[in-house]
Formats: sequence, C-alpha cells, structure tokens
Amino acid sequence: MYDIAIVGGGPAGLAAAVNARRRNKETVLISKEPHSSKLTQSHQIDNYLGISQVSGSDLALRMREHAEKLDTIFLKDEIQSIYYEEQSYHLFGRENSLEARTVILAVGISLGAEIDGEIRLTGQGVSYCATCDGMFFKGKTVALIGYIPEAEHEAAFLAEICGKVYYLPQYKMTRELEPKITIISGKPLAILGSERVEALKTTQDDYPLDGVFIERANRPVDQLLNDLRTESGMILVDSNQATNLPGVFAAGDCTGKPWQISRAVGQGQIAALSAVQYLDSRKIVHS
Ligand SMILES: Cc1cc2nc3c(=O)[nH]c(=O)nc-3n(C[C@H](O)[C@H](O)[C@H](O)COP(=O)(O)OP(=O)(O)OC[C@H]3O[C@@H](n4cnc5c(N)ncnc54)[C@H](O)[C@@H]3O)c2cc1C
Repeated sequence: MYDIAIVGGGPAGLAAAVNARRRNKETVLISKEPHSSKLTQSHQIDNYLGISQVSGSDLALRMREHAEKLDTIFLKDEIQSIYYEEQSYHLFGRENSLEARTVILAVGISLGAEIDGEIRLTGQGVSYCATCDGMFFKGKTVALIGYIPEAEHEAAFLAEICGKVYYLPQYKMTRELEPKITIISGKPLAILGSERVEALKTTQDDYPLDGVFIERANRPVDQLLNDLRTESGMILVDSNQATNLPGVFAAGDCTGKPWQISRAVGQGQIAALSAVQYLDSRKIVHS
C-alpha cells in the first residue's frame, strides 16, 4: 500500500512527487506517457522562472530526473478507474492495479476536442481502450484516432485481431506502421450511426466501419472516479488542492486555467503537502 498515488507525469504530477518524497512518503507516480506530450510539444519555453529559455523536452527530462533522484516509483500505465474501499483507494490501470491511502490527480487536459457523435456512441462502438474492448471487434473494421504516438501500439494490437484497421494520426508520425494498418491523413469530423457506430466521417472521405477507438493523452476526469465534483470538465478544488472526496487532491491543467507550467508545478507542490497533512492528521505511517 502506497501513501500517495499520483496519476499523471506532467509538471503537476512530478512536482507532487518531489514534494511527497521530500516528506518521506511512499509515493508512486503512474503516467501513460514517459514525458508529458504537452510539455514536449512546446518548442521553447520563455516564462518558467529561473530558466529563461528551455525546450519543453529538456524541461520534461529535468523534471523527471529530479523525481527519480528522490526515489519516486514510476509506473507506465493508464489509470482507468479508481474506487474507495476499506479506507483506501484502489487504482486500476490497463496493466497494474494498486492501492494507496491518498490520490493526487494530475492528469492534464485532453488534447483533442470531442468529436461529433463521440459521447452519444460511447459504449456503442466508440471505445477509449483497445486492450479492454478490442476483442469485441474481432474480424471487424475499426478506426483508431490517435492524438499521441503511444496510440501506435494500440493500432498494432488492433491489427492482430481486427479485419481492417484505419489509423488517423492527429500528430506528426515519425515511423512506419505495419502494412495491415491503413493510414488516413485527414481529420475526424463525425462518428456516424443511429444506435451503433456505422461510419467515420473525415476530411478525406467517409469510412463504413464497426468501431472507433480514440486515444488521447487523457480521458474525461469524471470517468476516473465516481462522485468527483467537476465543472465544465475541470476538477473543482479548494486552496489546498483538495477535491470533494477525502484524501483526493488535484493539480495542474485538470483543475482549470491558466494552463501553464508554473501553475501546475505550484499546485503539484500544494497537493503533495496537503496529502502529507491528511496522512499525518490520521497518524498513518507507511508499512
Ligand atoms: C504547444 C504547447 C506549448 C506550450 N507552451 C507553454 C509555455 O511556453 N509556457 C507554459 O507555462 N506552458 C506552456 N504550455 C502549457 C503546459 O505544457 C501545460 O500547462 C502543462 O504541461 C500542464 O501540466 P500538467 O502536469 O497539469 O498536465 P500535462 O503536462 O498534460 O500532464 C498530464 C500527464 O498525465 C497523463 N495522464 C492523463 N490521464 C492519465 C491516466 N488516466 N493515467 C495515467 N496518466 C495519465 C498524460 O498522458 C500526461 O502525460 C504549452 C502547451 C502546449 C501544448
């Protein structure tokens, strides 16, 4: 059992990890990507205090190294759901499940705007997890809309089980995919179908198909944790970064604007210190 589980490895999550470790709490950081794709996309950052010019990739590397030096435990995974049971939180990823006394959500915001028809057809052919739902589409035709390079692994997995796979990268691809995957360079416009997915409309053409997978840097926060209070998709927090759920804190872009690195780092620190205070007030020490 961990003291603090941090979900998200961008500036907010890494700042939380550094401060939680400095308070000697058993800390695990679970992140879908090794480095925040938001940060690495940033060509040059000029407004991070103390470092007048730095590339996003360099800053991401330095932030992660800092947390690694303090012995943060890193897991590469996507947390899909979190439940509270018997005084602790249970976090379920695609590959790992773990337990923690407190949780810090630092999941950033979605890079892709919602696609027309996406929400209406979620669970009716629209899925966010190839590993979980891929087998439902065995031998069928699917499309995967990928906003991050990690989606390429999901496309390869779908190619093993589906009859046909279209891949729509919404970023600059740097490597070739296997020939069974058909790359479509257009943008998704709408997912069509009355009761189930029937086709994908793109700027190139309409593609009849059975399923659409969407792989973004993150998923809607209220799908992660039941009863988490949000407003317009942002997690509501108080000045201690506490959410409405006991022992759950949130930091960074997922709590609202301005979407900036310094704010994410500051909030990550406050969230960690609040989690520490929460643990200490219950006199919980790590086992
Ligand atoms: C092109 C560009 C340029 C920018 N330039 C600047 C700039 O010059 N100055 C500035 O201050 N800001 C800039 N920003 C904004 C800055 O990058 C963000 O404000 C900052 O990265 C937010 O940090 P965060 O930790 O809240 O979220 P993110 O950096 O988005 O990190 C969240 C991480 O959580 C992971 N994650 C999400 N859901 C899950 C899950 N369920 N399980 C596991 N992991 C999950 C995501 O994959 C991601 O890696 C820029 C952004 C972009 C896109």
